[in-house]
Amino acid sequence: MCGIVGYTGPREAAPILLEGLARLEYRGYDSAGIALVTANGDLFVEKRAGKLANLRTALLDATPSAAVGLAHTRWATHGRPNDLNAHPHSDCTGEITVIHNGIIENFRELRDGLEARGHTLASETDTEALAHLVEEAYRGDIADAVREALAKAHGAYALAVLHRQEPGRLVGARENVPLIVGIGEGENFLASDVAAVLAHTSRVIFLEEGDVADITPQSIRITGVDGRPRERVPQQISWSIEAAEKGGFDHFMLKEMHEQSQAVRAAVTGRLHHEEILLEELAPLAERLATIERVEFVACGSANYAAMIGAHLLQRWSGLPSRNNIGSEFRYSPPPLDASTLVVAVTQSGETADTIAPTRFAREQGCPVIAVTNTVGSAITREADAVLFLQAGPEIAVVATKTFVTQVTTLVMLAAAIAKTKGRLDAARERELVEALRQLPDKIDRAIEMAAPAKELARRYVNSRGFMFVGRGITYPVALEGALKLKEVSYVHAEGYAAGELKHGPISLLDAEVPLVAIATRSPLQEKLVSNVMEGRARDAKVLMIATEGDDAVAAYADDVLWVPDTIEELTPVLAIVPLQLFAYHTAVARGTDVDQPRNLAKSVTVE
Ligand code: GLU
Repeated sequence: MCGIVGYTGPREAAPILLEGLARLEYRGYDSAGIALVTANGDLFVEKRAGKLANLRTALLDATPSAAVGLAHTRWATHGRPNDLNAHPHSDCTGEITVIHNGIIENFRELRDGLEARGHTLASETDTEALAHLVEEAYRGDIADAVREALAKAHGAYALAVLHRQEPGRLVGARENVPLIVGIGEGENFLASDVAAVLAHTSRVIFLEEGDVADITPQSIRITGVDGRPRERVPQQISWSIEAAEKGGFDHFMLKEMHEQSQAVRAAVTGRLHHEEILLEELAPLAERLATIERVEFVACGSANYAAMIGAHLLQRWSGLPSRNNIGSEFRYSPPPLDASTLVVAVTQSGETADTIAPTRFAREQGCPVIAVTNTVGSAITREADAVLFLQAGPEIAVVATKTFVTQVTTLVMLAAAIAKTKGRLDAARERELVEALRQLPDKIDRAIEMAAPAKELARRYVNSRGFMFVGRGITYPVALEGALKLKEVSYVHAEGYAAGELKHGPISLLDAEVPLVAIATRSPLQEKLVSNVMEGRARDAKVLMIATEGDDAVAAYADDVLWVPDTIEELTPVLAIVPLQLFAYHTAVARGTDVDQPRNLAKSVTVE
């Protein structure tokens, strides 16, 4: 899940590449590196462990003038995150240089073979094997050499390759990992993600599996690994560059939380017609949906908790057995998969390897597939019969906020739409849902205002030994997501539990140092949840409660309350998560962690 950027054109390459890397740093930040073919024909390589700032410092007095180059930010998979293993990697001649995102699965065999044939490999990475394979295959044409080398490697990759003697030429390739070509005027780009090129162009080609792109300032030629030409249609991206900048907020995470109302508004736009929910994107699946008998959601991380809410409501409304599955587990104990099982894959980036692989597997068994993603042109869209886009705009902070709430909102609409095709959602219920969805964006803004005390509470609770988040029914996934947010950004241990489970084990963790965070919004299960909270209080645990505005009765059981506006029970997760996101954010700020780029994480996890 590294970030890749490449440039070829008339301008100075280094500043363009470094700016592109800054926009990709969310993908990994173990090390950063750059390679340039200088104006006098030398290959210049600089790389540094740690964040991009270290590379920038190293380049301060020493950046040569160059019109072509490539740059990389790493999330280490093979080899420690040090200078030596940082990309770019070069071959024995020092003429070829490679950056890579992904994993070359047969790297051991390739490295052994190369060493036996006399190559010296300097790093511990899988990537370096590629540089040497290209070297062996090189006979004067770098694109031919890359194609020949790739025929020997398998796994997942996005690559960019440069040869000192062919300046102006960049070769990119993709398999299971995203790579785009940015199309400029007399200049072209390669990048992992549109955010890296948006400052220069909004015309891009999303490369597809097995594509090899051979680019110069004036030309883009795409072939398969077999050398046969492939046609790819450029797309116009509507995201603005401002959307990918902080706009006055201290952190992207804070900015993105404040964009949640706008994101949810965009997610419902065009999907609510008068008193009905209409998902036109499902049209290609209309007939197959009529015959499905169960629904399996596949997702990872926050998307898995969104999927848990989707599955809960789908089962409640349609009566179809529905459940969420962790992507990395699904393939190894699969449920019955055939044409009667609908698979719904949920992934913000659309590139999550742990979600893509099981989705592809399910598709091979004949399952109809719906993808729910934020990213146009992403890999998951090619595995699906129908795609629902989140419309959340770019999310730069590593932790999910606005994409979580738009996932939940989109899955609520999907659950309703499927229940309707099964004749199980009556018109009155649908009307009520549509009305509540229309009011949701304004309520999210109010939830943010009402959560203002989260800052003070975060300071007060900051030294807690750990946190126990609990919910019941539809608020159980909110407890899981709330705990995950806190762990991710503040590095404080937090667990999310179904409140009824407390007494079956984790209650032994509770004492005056471990507060309970109870998601106690109005619901038919509220009384039972309160009983569970009382069990915790009896063990001296402090109680921080998320409660519905005006519900003073339940607040009596709490030490502190963060209020949220009232809505129908099914939509409570979208509002209840807001104060928990802010609580996590302010705890992280109080603890001085790196909010937008927490240690060890990367946003888009393109390895299994
Ligand atoms: N496998 C490569 C490395 O460890 C690339 C890592 C990645 O894309 O996450 O350097």
